Amino acid sequence: MTQAAVVQYALEPLAVELRDVAVPEIGDADVLLRVGAVSVCGSDVHQAYNTHSWPVNVPVVLGHEFGGTVARAGRAVKHFREGDRVVSETAAEVCGECMLCRTGRYNLCPTRKGFGYGVDGAMASYVKVPARCLHHIPDSLPFELACLAEPHAVAYNAMCVNSTIRPGDLVVVLGPGPIGLLCARMAALAGADPLVVVGLSGDAARLETARRLGATHLVNVEQENLNDVVRGLNPLGADLVCDASGASRPLDVALALVRPDGQVTKVGWSPDLVPVNINPLVQKNVRLQGSFSHNYPVWERVIHLLDRRRTLPDAIVGLTSPLAGWREAFAAMHEGRVIKSVLVP
Ligand SMILES: [Zn+2]
Ligand SMILES: [Zn+2]
Repeated sequence: MTQAAVVQYALEPLAVELRDVAVPEIGDADVLLRVGAVSVCGSDVHQAYNTHSWPVNVPVVLGHEFGGTVARAGRAVKHFREGDRVVSETAAEVCGECMLCRTGRYNLCPTRKGFGYGVDGAMASYVKVPARCLHHIPDSLPFELACLAEPHAVAYNAMCVNSTIRPGDLVVVLGPGPIGLLCARMAALAGADPLVVVGLSGDAARLETARRLGATHLVNVEQENLNDVVRGLNPLGADLVCDASGASRPLDVALALVRPDGQVTKVGWSPDLVPVNINPLVQKNVRLQGSFSHNYPVWERVIHLLDRRRTLPDAIVGLTSPLAGWREAFAAMHEGRVIKSVLVP
């Protein structure tokens, strides 16, 4: 049996096409998932334009933000059966033996391979998923929103686990892409106020969405002096700066804006190596925190928040399309016309 799938076939710009591939065979501990919806990640777009900063095993089926219905369960699978509605975490392969795996931080396993770059992902009718990656979802949560659990989990882990936000904290989010906007929403839910979201002139629509998600101040750095805005709110600087820009350079900006004894959390990354003045890190006693992916408890939280629509997920999805429309779905995100595209295979 074959199926159509969005495949990255080479490490070159735009080496992505809709191809016929085999429906995967599953092992005893896997399920075969009928994909209900898969959202397009900034990282899928980076891979399609070959501007990513992680190793990709080509050819590979793209897509790691997905949910669906269990079509078949392997013999050793106990808690999931045919017909169950689920979403899947992204750590498709981990060693299961190292200290991080054994302490539930398997997302940081050095041998981790994720869907959509390390193993075949979900931009297809069917995807093979180890049952340990799955979470049940309530019937009240449609797949078109449930697939957003993954970027929600990235943002929740960055803002609510790896960062400390108290009600009334001045939080600045650099970069109003999908992750930046979800980080802003999580910060708002955690009580950040003021909440400053920062972008460029081309981000006008995204900044308006940030306002809907709870931002109290929007700054276009091409028109306004960000430092003046932040110092106007608190002369000492921001309690927390989240760099979700997906670039390396803004670490400089984050270290300049953060107050003494404050925190910088970096969630976006890029292949660019840039010289950065890290002296404020020491001089201001700043806590610099990287944030990568997510694990089981984070997923349970975000599924609940999504089901309750507490994160206003409808504000994020700008385009829903069948798999054949993948090219436009990617381009619309790449060009900033929509925040998030969702494919329904
Ligand atoms: Zn993602
Ligand atoms: Zn491990």
